[in-house]
Amino acid sequence: MGNSRAQADLDRLLILIGPPGAGKGTQAKRLVERYHIPQLATGDMLRAARAAGTELGKRVAAVMDAGKLVSDEIVIALIEERLRNPSTRMGVIFDGFPRTVKQAQALGELLSDLGRCIDRVVMVMVPDDEVVHRNVGRRMCESCQRTYHLEFSPPKARGLCDACGGKLVQRPDDAEEKVRARLEAYHRDTSPVVDFYDARRLVCRVDGRGALDEVFGRLVAAIESTCE
Ligand code: ADP
Ligand code: ADP
Ligand code: ZN
Repeated sequence: MGNSRAQADLDRLLILIGPPGAGKGTQAKRLVERYHIPQLATGDMLRAARAAGTELGKRVAAVMDAGKLVSDEIVIALIEERLRNPSTRMGVIFDGFPRTVKQAQALGELLSDLGRCIDRVVMVMVPDDEVVHRNVGRRMCESCQRTYHLEFSPPKARGLCDACGGKLVQRPDDAEEKVRARLEAYHRDTSPVVDFYDARRLVCRVDGRGALDEVFGRLVAAIESTCE
């Protein structure tokens, strides 16, 4: 392939990391439009498996509803399948993955196998008390998984998705005590992932508070700058 260099230049691999409710999913959808690469959200993939009633969906249901992490093997397999799919060859926005150092190591091995590498890890920072408020008020479309917030970004018609008209529901793991369990998992298992990428000088930290447009502007700046 004579133009492999040019193709490599078009490959954009971004990781969004941050506590549950930091706004990763909301911002990832905007980044998809901006950069024309797909969002790979392991949480969305797992919820879709549950909605479809697959074996995998049944296996992960209780763990997810308790606010705990699904096993590394399961999520790594999901990611590997997607990364080997041509739809992700121009790049990808990882949202909610990797969440453990083991996942980060597995991703590293997979990417080196594929001759690709991570461009940037953007850490979206939101303090714990705001995270709880955001998760508890979050509502999600049953059909397309788009998210809303009762106060901060309500839908145009009450209880209905702006994008597809689907019904808005609360995620079982968005009950306050589950949110606290997820936050604990974040601090225990996912914070070390930030250290892992810090050591590789890939991390750019962004303030996740404020209006959606403001946060988006910071993300784009982080993605396009050298961020030192
Ligand atoms: P994550 O994917 O990181 O878990 P979401 O994108 O689902 O987070 O956002 C969590 C909740 O917070 C949603 O209800 C969303 O509407 C709301 N939200 C997202 N960004 C902001 C923001 N900048 N300010 C206030 N609320 C926000
Ligand atoms: P949030 O961003 O609000 O924490 P997600 O939608 O990313 O929520 O994830 C929901 C749940 O799915 C997690 O609490 C966990 O049970 C499971 N999950 C998603 N991604 C992963 C992952 N990379 N590793 C382990 N479990 C995951
Ligand atoms: Zn919808």
